[in-house]
Amino acid sequence: MTSNNPQTREWQALSNDHHLAPFSDFKQLKEKGPRIITSAKGVYLWDSEGNKILDGMAGLWCVAIGYGRDELADAASKQMRELPYYNLFFQTAHPPVLELAKVIADVAPEGMNHVFFTGSGSEGNDTMLRMVRHYWAIKGQPKKKVIISRKNGYHGSTVAGASLGGMTYMHEQGDLPIPGIVHIAQPYWFGEGGDMTPNEFGIWAANQLEEKILEVGVDNVGAFIAEPIQGAGGVIIPPDSYWPRIKEILAKYDILFVADEVICGFGRTGEWFGTDFYDLKPHMMTIAKGLTSGYIPMGGLIVHDDVVEVLNEGGDFNHGFTYSGHPVAAAVALENIRILRDEKIVERVRAETAPYLQKRLRELNDHPLVGEVRGVGLLGAIELVQDKATRKRYEGKGVGMICRTFCFENGLIMRAVGDTMIIAPPLVITPAEIDELVTKARKCLDLTLSALQG
Ligand SMILES: *Cc1c(COP(=O)(O)O)cnc(C)c1O
Repeated sequence: MTSNNPQTREWQALSNDHHLAPFSDFKQLKEKGPRIITSAKGVYLWDSEGNKILDGMAGLWCVAIGYGRDELADAASKQMRELPYYNLFFQTAHPPVLELAKVIADVAPEGMNHVFFTGSGSEGNDTMLRMVRHYWAIKGQPKKKVIISRKNGYHGSTVAGASLGGMTYMHEQGDLPIPGIVHIAQPYWFGEGGDMTPNEFGIWAANQLEEKILEVGVDNVGAFIAEPIQGAGGVIIPPDSYWPRIKEILAKYDILFVADEVICGFGRTGEWFGTDFYDLKPHMMTIAKGLTSGYIPMGGLIVHDDVVEVLNEGGDFNHGFTYSGHPVAAAVALENIRILRDEKIVERVRAETAPYLQKRLRELNDHPLVGEVRGVGLLGAIELVQDKATRKRYEGKGVGMICRTFCFENGLIMRAVGDTMIIAPPLVITPAEIDELVTKARKCLDLTLSALQG
């Protein structure tokens, strides 16, 4: 992005000279220069060029209550003045972390009453891996180490997180996955369902779990981890047949079920957790993102009473982070959850804005470029195709990136995962703002189609 604004150019120079950005091609970013985001309010961002942009991704799926809520800033400021830091390692605790653990237990599914705090979702999944293996060791089954995950799932970017995740482009760098993590097919009907109906494919994909358990040996499998709805993989909504069949398989074998709720948690589906939406009954749930609405880093692992009972017999759990349960992050999370509850934001998503967004998004099905529109709650995906009937893609054209660029230029952030456009706006988005989002999305689809034909 070239700019005439000297201040923008100055910031871009700092980026070139000193900053290594996550998930970026360093050299290419130097050539283009990053867009500089300077402020935000509600569902809107402003960049250093004065452009106003509707943030259809809530940052990175995290800004649930929207930008610019002073209450969270005040909570952080108050806590920083009172007790900015103390650790939880040496048989100490502080009020914010204890109050937060209780409030999370209140909104979490039944039996999920304990929380281990981390600084991020990745650390939550690292914690999960160690806790699962520790759990089985305590139960006298130390061989139950293998974690089954899914291709194209996302579980973070630490060594364990990226290994648990099923992103091959991440595995290629750094010799991943680490041993003891195996992957099965994802329930992505549009991309991989072939001639099967969605429900046939859902059963097939779920059965891969049973096949993998039998292949690895149930005595060697510790847990299965999955996102209720894959987010970074492209907002993949499993066919209706998928989760019931997975639940049957899990009930049959003695392994733990971990729901990665980092995206679905805290209201995204119109329920507090994705596991409520699908009635999944997991043993552990990873959380982050919406926990603090992204205002400050924090993650964690919610653990079922049945698991805690076993862990209680295991002596020290030799694991933790300097910033586990950080008091300032905990104070911000508490205020965030208070706002979600008091303003009935999750209920409003369920009753009003999710049905409206899903209805309006599906109007885009008539567009020549659109092969499928799908979504749940305030999650949505638009598949861009060359041929609707056969679900054939525009090979090698980078259609998703073309569309994403048009969106940015027209004041809308939609993310591209290959040729799938995805959205996850702040949970406070209004019907009028949804209208704006869909109108802009259609305009960008038109521009993308013209670019392909031109
Ligand atoms: C973002 C994400 C993570 C990783 O969280 P970080 O805070 O980036 O470490 C894990 N799981 C899912 C489902 C995510 O979307």
